[in-house]
Amino acid sequence: KSSQQKEVSKEWKLEPEHEFRFEIDFGTTVKLKLISGTAEIFGTEIGIGHEYEFSGRKVAIFTWHGICSVEYVANETPMTSYLNMHIALEQCREEAKSKSEKGPRVMIVGPEDVGKTSLCKLLLSYALRHGRQPIFVNLDSNEGSITMPGTLTATPVNHIIDVEEGFGSSATTAPSFSSSYMPMVFYYGYSDPSDNVKLYKVLTKKLASNVYRRLVEDEIAKASGIVIDTSGLIDSTGYEIIQHCVDVFDVNIIIVLGHERLYSDMARLYKERSGVNVVKLSKSGGVVDRDNAFRRQMQMRKIREYFYGSLAPSSALPIGIDRKVSETQLVKVEPDDDTLLHSILAISSANNSEEHSLLESSIIGSNVDTGKQKMTILSPSPGRLPKQYLIMGSYKWMES
Ligand code: ADP
Repeated sequence: KSSQQKEVSKEWKLEPEHEFRFEIDFGTTVKLKLISGTAEIFGTEIGIGHEYEFSGRKVAIFTWHGICSVEYVANETPMTSYLNMHIALEQCREEAKSKSEKGPRVMIVGPEDVGKTSLCKLLLSYALRHGRQPIFVNLDSNEGSITMPGTLTATPVNHIIDVEEGFGSSATTAPSFSSSYMPMVFYYGYSDPSDNVKLYKVLTKKLASNVYRRLVEDEIAKASGIVIDTSGLIDSTGYEIIQHCVDVFDVNIIIVLGHERLYSDMARLYKERSGVNVVKLSKSGGVVDRDNAFRRQMQMRKIREYFYGSLAPSSALPIGIDRKVSETQLVKVEPDDDTLLHSILAISSANNSEEHSLLESSIIGSNVDTGKQKMTILSPSPGRLPKQYLIMGSYKWMES
């Protein structure tokens, strides 16, 4: 319901293996309650009688067994093929565990809006239900599933993915080094891998080596393997990046979602190479194209949530800029430089200004800045800045 509209409620009955799909705009809220039976949202089970609230989301509720629930019900879903994929991955994990080897390293590729992120959530949730703790790697900097847009992240998934919030952004809101489940975050600073291919490659390589360091220490995560979400870039630059990421993350299963040509190209590319399997899965009819305005709003919501948590006022406005810094070379920003105004800044954990260490250090927080001689920053965690080097990319944010 929107503020002007009355609350209306409706009840829906779902047959086994049917999916109930709905789209809710920003500024509108839908509440959902499961009355009986069992159901899940992108792999996470929902509880009977609990009221879930959604806004600015496109969601599918799926049932294996049939339920009663509260705009269209679909019975043609690729869920069985997704489940079979999960079962195959579970077999790999079981084998890996018994031999003390690495579990499956799965990468999901495809164009934008084919359900890559949703499939990641599903595979991760199912793995979690089997007591696994896979690592979720998000290489789609446009989206910033775990934290801010502009970041490349890896997160050990060890608790249920929130139905309302998705992966949420709270994981990194308060920088704390005490938690062993701290996500690894690198600030790339752009939305598209093609904006700075060289930097993207440097950071993904570094992220991969951090992930592998973690797998060595953690037996459960090691056997559980990793699930990698990618950007929707599938032109020649996209192909180059996919191959780079397959190499650095030692991917052994590539899932191509909803794109015939990409599948045959990948199958051909990796035909000769033993150890890399290319699998094709179809796109769900429920996946919705998100236009630029919707994406923009999603990004802004992510940024706002990062600073304020999910109860933020909805008055934040984006302001557009696009300023490119060449390749991996850092350019010093003068403190009186107007370009700093309203910038998202990442705090580097680097201890010296040596370029490589700066670029390759994990990001532990971000700020909005109003530049004069003095910087006023907005930070989700109070207190002193833990480090002195800040990295600026192309993201800007402003509260109205
Ligand atoms: P991609 O990662 O390929 O860009 P997403 O997984 O983010 O695609 O899906 C695009 C949009 O479609 C998202 O808003 C998601 O919530 C929605 N969506 C995905 N699968 C379904 C489905 N089966 N029914 C309804 N909406 C869906």
